[in-house]
Amino acid sequence: MNDEQPASKKPAVIRVNGSWCKRCGICVAFCPKDVLEINEGNLEVARPDDCIACMLCELRCPDFAITVEKE
Ligand code: SF4
Ligand code: SF4
Repeated sequence: MNDEQPASKKPAVIRVNGSWCKRCGICVAFCPKDVLEINEGNLEVARPDDCIACMLCELRCPDFAITVEKE
C-alpha cells in the first residue's frame, strides 16, 4: 500500500500539546486559513489540508503548546 501524500496536500504537521494548551483561542484568531477551531473546550486541527505553514500559530501561542513541522 502506498500511503504517501502529495506535498501540496500536506504542507505541515501541526501538533498540539494538550497539557500545555489552555484553549485561549489566540492561535485560532491568528490563523489566516482558519485551520484551527475550539470545539467543546478542545483545540482541534479542523482543516489540516488548508495549512500554509506560516508558523503564526506557533509564534503567537503564549504557552508553546502548538508546533508546526514543515514537511
Ligand atoms: S494559542 Fe496556544 S494555548 Fe492558546 S489555544 Fe492555541 S495552542 Fe492553546
Ligand atoms: S501554520 Fe499558519 S496556516 Fe497553519 S495552522 Fe498555523 S497559523 Fe494556520
